[in-house]
Order: sequence, then C-alpha cells, then structure tokens
Amino acid sequence: LPLIAVCGRPNVGKSTLFNRLTGSRRSIVGDEPGITRDRIYGEVEWFGRDARIVDTGGVIPDDEALIPSEIFRQAQVALEEADSIIMVVDGRTELASPDLELARLLLRGGKPVFLAVNKMDTDALLPQAENFRRLGFRNVFPISAEHNGGIGDLMDEVFESLPEPKTHEE
Ligand code: GDP
Repeated sequence: LPLIAVCGRPNVGKSTLFNRLTGSRRSIVGDEPGITRDRIYGEVEWFGRDARIVDTGGVIPDDEALIPSEIFRQAQVALEEADSIIMVVDGRTELASPDLELARLLLRGGKPVFLAVNKMDTDALLPQAENFRRLGFRNVFPISAEHNGGIGDLMDEVFESLPEPKTHEE
C-alpha cells in the first residue's frame, strides 16, 4: 500500500489527525533495534482506496534539546519511505524557524508535500492560516483535526498524489 507520513513539531496535532484518519486501524511498530523512537503506523481508507499512514511524532524525547533533531530525523525517514507527506503546523502559533527549516527540508525532498494548518476551529481563524503560506507550500489546507474541519479537501489531494493501487486485495 502507498504510505502517507505526517510530520511536524510536537503539539501541533499530528496524532489527533492520525487518530481521526485511522480510527482503530493502527499499530505501534518498533523502529530498528537500538533506536528507541517509535513510529506509529495505521491504515486509512478514503473513498474506496487504502493507504498506510505513519505518525512520525509517535514518541517525543524527554529532553527538549533533542526535539528539533528528532523531528528532522523523522522527516528524513519520511522522505525516504513515504509516497506523500503532510506537514502539520499549529495555526494558532506564530510561524517559527523550526517550521521554516522543516518545510525547507520537506520541499526539497521531491515528494508530494501538503501543509495542514491545524487548530483552525472556526472560520474567524482562517485568515491566520494565510501566514503559513510563507513556508512555501503550493498546497495549504486549513484544518481542524479536533473538529473534523477541512480534512476532506486535504485528503482528496493527498490521495490524488499517491501512486495508483494495483489491486484491492491486501
Ligand atoms: P502532536 O504532538 O503533534 O501529535 O499533537 P496532539 O495530536 O497530541 O495534539 C496536541 C494538542 O493539540 C492536544 O491538546 C490536542 O487536543 C490539541 N489539538 C489537536 N488538534 C486540534 C484542533 O484541531 N483544534 C484545537 N483547538 N486543538 C487541537
């Protein structure tokens, strides 16, 4: 199955989005031996098509100082293994340099990338999402992972970007 990766800083709502998309179809899969970080895989069905999805924020290190490098490591893995990548930002916060750096890395990776500006719970918040256009994504989707807003438009585009499935038998 094609693979979608969800990237972004802690607390932006990656796992809320992931849980909403996967429902109960998810599993915690250990990484290679020696690496303590977990990546959480699940499956998502979208209008009759299936994909795997990975939440790259599965486990966040306790040490604040390690967080940026861990996000980058996860993004590198995502660029290697995923077919399409969703970067999630918290639309209620200021655009910060770790977001710019992560965006730059993802945009250079040559894979289809989508920006989900999360926590846009009401229409009144939507203008804030515009700030994040500076990150340089062509595809910017204001969403509310918690209230299920905007996710349809996002996933339509993400699935559109995935390689065509061969059969439906997995
Ligand atoms: P992660 O660390 O990126 O996986 O973030 P989480 O999914 O754990 O979410 C972090 C916090 O943001 C939690 O308190 C969520 O309830 C909250 N959150 C997630 N999505 C939304 C949203 O759409 N709107 C609002 N207002 N809060 C959200």
